[in-house]
Amino acid sequence: MVSDRIRTGTLLGAAISCVLADAEDMFLNGIVHFSTGYLAGRALGYREYRFQTLYVAVAAYSPDFDLQLQSFSPFFAHGIWTHTAVGVAVMSFALAVIARVGLALCSPPVPIRFVPLWGMAMLGGLSHLFLDGFTYYESPADAVHHMYLWPLWNFPWHINTVCPGVSYTTRVWVEVIYSVFVGVFILLYQWAGRKQNPFRMFDPRGWFKPDGVPEQCGTVSLGGSGIEPG
Ligand SMILES: [Zn+2]
Repeated sequence: MVSDRIRTGTLLGAAISCVLADAEDMFLNGIVHFSTGYLAGRALGYREYRFQTLYVAVAAYSPDFDLQLQSFSPFFAHGIWTHTAVGVAVMSFALAVIARVGLALCSPPVPIRFVPLWGMAMLGGLSHLFLDGFTYYESPADAVHHMYLWPLWNFPWHINTVCPGVSYTTRVWVEVIYSVFVGVFILLYQWAGRKQNPFRMFDPRGWFKPDGVPEQCGTVSLGGSGIEPG
């Protein structure tokens, strides 16, 4: 009975750890990837309410769609083919096709060409691979994770394979510092300081406004310069 309870407790603890780890992968890491894509879209010169900003943010998360899809098929095992440059190119192509079809069905149709859509999705996807390069090689399973240059070079990109000897503590600090920086920059500097509410990217009414100047914002876009007054 006691051993059963201990085993149950151990299993429960392991299950909770797994759930928390998955939650961290899907939620916290997902937010950081999404936010990085958002900033990449902003760096291209698009305001926080533009379709392109949301699009690059979704693309930046897209390699981790395998977290949801892996339960349907082992083909989508996490961190394998979706985390290669070839995989990102394929997924970006698919995203661009979906976006192009969706934009063509808008009334009136939105004239954003396919190649820029593919390029923006690639930018988002590659930002994901860059950030995932700071993960830690912990077990033999990681040998097939993040082989970015597959099939040319089956090298697993992790912080301690690129820089042997880096400690796990360093890896954690890198993630914490970067996550805090992204949060402070978007929430305090851009939103609180410059009144650029990032949640407006989810409002389709601002995506394609011809003037690019929503009434409540009162700011002027400088086009593709990436520099925008608050
Ligand atoms: Zn990932």
